[in-house]
Amino acid sequence: MKLSGSDCLCTVCKRVFKGDEAFRRHRRGKYGIDRHCIDPATVGMRLNERGRWGKPIAADTLAKLATIGRKPTPVHQGGKSARKLKTP
Ligand SMILES: [Zn+2]
Repeated sequence: MKLSGSDCLCTVCKRVFKGDEAFRRHRRGKYGIDRHCIDPATVGMRLNERGRWGKPIAADTLAKLATIGRKPTPVHQGGKSARKLKTP
């Protein structure tokens, strides 16, 4: 699997996480004593379509993301400039 960006590969359980925070969430115990991996699903994470473990996106965040792709109704029609800079 090719890693990119903030992906974190766990060398112990071979799972890939969306970032350092997600990675740390699946590690339990004390380093050098009983450090181990737990199932990410037990701490609320989900495997996404890219094979990365991470926190699922909240429903309200998804709704916001859905609106980003839509074009807002143009308010500057009729050839008027949309620039807000004032000309001296
Ligand atoms: Zn692990």
